[in-house]
Amino acid sequence: MESYNSFKVAQKQVIDAAKILNLDNATKELLLWPQREFTFTYPVRLDSGEMRIFHAYRIQYNYARGPAKGGIRFHPDETVDTVRALASWMTWKTAVLDLPLGGSKGGVVCDPKRMSERELEGIARGYIRGVAELLGVDKDIPAPDVYTNPQTMAWMMDEYETITHRHQPGVMTDKPLQVGGTEGRRDAVARGGVFTVREACKVLGVDPHGRIAIQGFGNVGQRAALLHRELLGGGKIIAVSDSGGAIYSDDGMDPRELVTHKLKSGSVKGFPGAKEIRQDALLELDVDILYPSALENAITKFNASKIKARIICELANGPTTPEADIILFNNGTHVIPDILASAGGVTVSYFEMVQDAYRFFWDEGIVHERLDKKMTKAYHTVQEAIREKKVHPRLAAMVVSVARVAEACKLRGWV
Ligand code: GLU
Repeated sequence: MESYNSFKVAQKQVIDAAKILNLDNATKELLLWPQREFTFTYPVRLDSGEMRIFHAYRIQYNYARGPAKGGIRFHPDETVDTVRALASWMTWKTAVLDLPLGGSKGGVVCDPKRMSERELEGIARGYIRGVAELLGVDKDIPAPDVYTNPQTMAWMMDEYETITHRHQPGVMTDKPLQVGGTEGRRDAVARGGVFTVREACKVLGVDPHGRIAIQGFGNVGQRAALLHRELLGGGKIIAVSDSGGAIYSDDGMDPRELVTHKLKSGSVKGFPGAKEIRQDALLELDVDILYPSALENAITKFNASKIKARIICELANGPTTPEADIILFNNGTHVIPDILASAGGVTVSYFEMVQDAYRFFWDEGIVHERLDKKMTKAYHTVQEAIREKKVHPRLAAMVVSVARVAEACKLRGWV
């Protein structure tokens, strides 16, 4: 099986958009590479007493439209190229939502599933000691990503404030409510995605109460299961998967029971009444709506032609490769691309930064309403670009966002 370099995928997406926009060489070169990359190592003492050196990254891809913004992952397979790709996607994500932010990403190569709370706190605080001078409410603002969470952000914010000797809660987002977090951030990625599915169903005439499959059942996948039903009033979840396995039930599974089972047992496997299927088979099931909510490069030229979903709502970052985009487009599958579908998280992160700056917090209902407005507008802007340029949805979304970033670079006199 071919292995994909996510940064090459991200660069190809920029090249395709640049071609349609007729960008000059300097602009293209600027947008094809991160503006700043920082690679470092730092020590953390493990519970065993052993000292371990960790490799880490913070990459600021582009900050023409505002301070760089993007999460931090703790993952054993993290590489400089995955962080570059994810930082690139954050740039296009904030631009397609028209947020006054740039894009960045960070990562630490570690295996959080095998670490204690105390060790994770050491990893979080050590990371901030390494990058503190690059961060700031007006420079670069982290958030959680794969295997990091609000507790990680609380430690990181505390370490940053200890170094800088002042309160600056807006330097991290998706913090716990008690230390400057916002209502509505925890489920924002999934909620934003479900709003785009609602719009897509209207445009395409697809019934939102049909069959649903969810690949990945972490924070985002679980919330998508709950919110699809809550916001759209129905839908039958026939399959879900996680790193432990995949399960299927033709009668559909109750999202709340699934979440309870996962929390209790650590995996979706063994859910009463469901049968086990292969993880890769989940993507090929006959469903109306598929939510890829795991990692990069899940839908490739090897399986794209077998996909039967009418709508794919990409809640993961980078789940589909460029060849697969073309196959899906030709087969009439409507892809809501990651930089749009999963942008609810960073949108509510932006709301959190605004609230932290004013020390004045909004009710949950206001967060939901403003998120809905932003997502709905961005969805229809991309729809318009699909019609106007006659290209597949990811390319249309890239055209919208690359044009916005290119314009900011030009106005600043960078190109
Ligand atoms: N990690 C999330 C993402 O990939 C959120 C980033 C943020 O809020 O800065 O969109």
